[in-house]
Parts: sequence; C-alpha cells; structure tokens
Amino acid sequence: MIEAAATPQPGRRAGLDRLTQFVPDAGARYARYRSFDFGPDQRGNTSVLSPYIRHRLVLEIEVLGAILEQHSRSDAAKFVDEVFWRTFFKGWLEQHPAAWKNYVRAVGDRFEELERDPSLLERYNSATAGNTGIDCFDAWAAELVATGYLHNHARMWFASIWVFTLKLPWELGADFFLRHLMDGDPASNTCGWRWVAGLQTSGKTYLARVSNIVSCTGGRFNPRGKLATSAPPLTESNPPEFTPLTPAVDSEPNGPFALLITEEDCAAEIGLLDSRPETILGLVTTRRRSLIPVGVPAYTFAMSAVTDAVQRASDAFDTEGAVIEADYDCDELIEWATNSGVSTIVTSYPPVGPVADFLDEAEPRLRHHGVELVRLRRRYDEVCWPHASRGFFRLKKALPRILRELGLEGAEDQPEVSMNRIEKQATAVAMKRMPR
Ligand SMILES: Cc1cc2nc3c(=O)[nH]c(=O)nc-3n(C[C@H](O)[C@H](O)[C@H](O)COP(=O)(O)OP(=O)(O)OC[C@H]3O[C@@H](n4cnc5c(N)ncnc54)[C@H](O)[C@@H]3O)c2cc1C
Repeated sequence: MIEAAATPQPGRRAGLDRLTQFVPDAGARYARYRSFDFGPDQRGNTSVLSPYIRHRLVLEIEVLGAILEQHSRSDAAKFVDEVFWRTFFKGWLEQHPAAWKNYVRAVGDRFEELERDPSLLERYNSATAGNTGIDCFDAWAAELVATGYLHNHARMWFASIWVFTLKLPWELGADFFLRHLMDGDPASNTCGWRWVAGLQTSGKTYLARVSNIVSCTGGRFNPRGKLATSAPPLTESNPPEFTPLTPAVDSEPNGPFALLITEEDCAAEIGLLDSRPETILGLVTTRRRSLIPVGVPAYTFAMSAVTDAVQRASDAFDTEGAVIEADYDCDELIEWATNSGVSTIVTSYPPVGPVADFLDEAEPRLRHHGVELVRLRRRYDEVCWPHASRGFFRLKKALPRILRELGLEGAEDQPEVSMNRIEKQATAVAMKRMPR
C-alpha cells in the first residue's frame, strides 16, 4: 500500500520530518516501487525530499547518515545511488560550466524564435498549457504548474515527448521545468534534459514508450498511437569542455564578516561556519531562473527556504538577519554590504547556476567598495566533486571510499529511529565530519 506524502512544506523542520517518515521505506520498498508514478495524491513511494535537498535545507550528508543508520548499504543501495546522482550532476556541471552558459544563451535565442515563428509559439503554448491531446503529457504539464513537483519517471517521459514527439527545443522544456519545479536545480535539470536528448551521454537517448507509461502509472494514462517511436539523438556544435575545479576556500576570514545566505545553501548554522558573523543577509534571486516569471510553488518554496535559513542562523549565532530580493541588479546587495561596515562577506560556495552568475556579477562592484566575497565550499562537495568529472559510474565505483571519507561507512546498526535522534545524529555527523 502506497500512502501519500504531504506536499512539501517549506522549512528545515518539515524536511527533517519527511526524512524521519521516509527512512524506514528507503530500502527494498523504495527499490521496488520507486519507478511508479501513482499520481499526485500517492507520493509515498519516493522520498519527495528533493526540494529540501536542492536548497540544502537538509544536507545530503544528513540524508545519507539517517538512511545508513537504519539500513545496510546494500539494502539502501538504490536510494543512496539516487542521492549521489544529484551530487554527480552538480560536480559534473561545475567541471563543464559551458553546458550551463550554452543553455542560458540558447534559452534566450529560443524565446526570440518564438516571437518570430507563430507556429512554433502555438506548439510551445499548447505544450506548456497541457493542451496537446496526449493524456499523460497534458496531465503532467498541469501538475507541474499547480504543484511544483513531478515524479522522476514523469520528468523523463515528459522530456522525451517534448523533444521527440512534439519536436520542441529541449532548452525551452528545461526552462519550463526550472521555473516551475520547487526543486528546480541548474545541474540536475540541465543534465536531466541533456541526458534524455542524447547530449549528456553522447548518442544515448531516452524514448518514452506507451507500454511503460501504462504500467508504471497503474493504467492512469494510455497515450497509444500518440508517441514518437524513435528517438534520434540531438547534437550540439560546441560540446562543453572539461574545466578543472576552482580551488576551494575553506578557511573563514580572521576579522569580522557578514554572512550571505542564498537558496543554494539554507543550513549555514550546520557545519559551515565556526565563528559568529556580524550580520546576516538572505538573498533571494529565484526570478533569475528564467527570462519569464517563475511559478508560484517554486518561488514560494525558495523564498520561504531562505527566510527560514536566515531565522535559524540568526538564532544560532545570535545575530540580526534580513532578507532581500535582488533578481536582476545587485544594487541592494552592494548597499547592504557597505552599510554593514564589514569588509568581508562569507557565503556558502554557490555551484554553477543563476546564484553563482549573480555573485560573479556582484563581486567586482563589491570589491570596488572595499568588500571581499569569500565562498566557503562544504567538505561534502570537496570530497565528491573530483569524482564527477566524467560519467556517473566512475563516481559510483568510488562510493565506498567517498562514504568512508565522509564518515558514513559502517553506520549499519538498526536502532529505533525518532525525529530527534535523526536530527541530533545527522547534525552531529555534519558538525564532526564536515567542518565545511
Ligand atoms: C528531465 C529531468 C529534469 C530534472 N530536473 C530536476 C531538477 O530541476 N531538480 C531536481 O532536484 N531534480 C531534477 N531531476 C531529478 C529527479 O527527477 C528528482 O530529483 C526526483 O524526482 C525528486 O523526487 P524525490 O525526492 O522523491 O526523489 P527520490 O527518488 O526519493 O530520490 C532521493 C533523492 O535523490 C536525488 N535524485 C533522485 N533522482 C535523481 C535524478 N534522476 N537526478 C538527480 N538527483 C536525483 C534527489 O535529491 C532526491 O530527492 C530531473 C530529472 C529529469 C529526468
């Protein structure tokens, strides 16, 4: 029996509650049922933790710690792999930043094409409005906009139908996801679409099949005769090249500093900082995910995540905090920085994506005002990303070593699990093993 998982509520507390609730199911049950999309009212077969993990309201190491405390590595192998797919994509994009730059440029170009080509515009509008006549696709388009979430299998089918049946540009589909998903993430999303289209694993595409949709949705949909029967890979003229990781900064400044919290890391009080910041600012840049308005669930989740993070950090460090929205220009950030009276701002290292782009733009102006920006990279990223330079299976092979380095291997006891216990232990692991 698959129960519903409640719609993800913003905030770390809700994320930890969901983690506690899901832990017992993360073994064989997850492996068996994870591919089924039983519909928005029955989400209990997967964790639905992605909005929390994506914003680092709950840290990957906390999720892994809680799971491996209850399950053996082999029982939870499937779930552990999935958590590392996110890590892999983040690490891969970090080492192939041109994939993100090319995507951003192409989205701009594709929106211009929509203005010039009425028939393309009509097809695009009917896809995003869920008006194509393909039952499953239309239902998923509506579900995405209304709830800000889609099951992983639905994302794969949707992207495949978008690219190979509707023959729409993949970048516009990725943009549709990024601005509506509560877990909208530059790395998982860009790489997920690239993978379906045959760009990520060169020449290997994902074809949505009617029989698979019928069986994995419990017969809710049957798009017989409506789907493409082949998926020829897309090509790109300038495949993103490997770029070495920038060396991490891992030490806090000696003097006074301000803490900047973004939607990339909403758990600054857990293992990021040793000393107390003078002041705290939450910076919400969610509107930069797209050239057109982001969906309400995605926006609300990100705004609430940053607000929750500032509140918790303020309490933990006994420091005043504020939240600003600064989507397209950095004037407000500069003003806050100069008013704060500190010459250093510390932030959690933003991975490739809109937040990193924003801070890259802001940095020279901050420097001009005598303010240095320090990006602290968490140890989790530091340990994992070097294994993500090529394919996932290289990282997977290194998992025993990675888990050992993170202090997670061997946590195979099966004690009674309670919310408090998970939170305390996961936080303890994070604090002990991950000074950053
Ligand atoms: C075209 C496409 C676009 C996607 N866009 C996003 C996105 O913008 N943001 C996002 O977070 N995920 C994205 N994904 C990955 C995946 O669909 C979601 O992370 C997953 O559905 C989240 O649901 P869950 O938390 O119940 O996952 P579970 O099955 O419970 O998995 C546990 C955790 O593992 C990670 N995970 C699981 N599957 C994947 C995956 N395929 N890739 C990366 N990480 C994974 C997530 O952190 C997830 O919370 C995309 C996948 C595809 C195919």
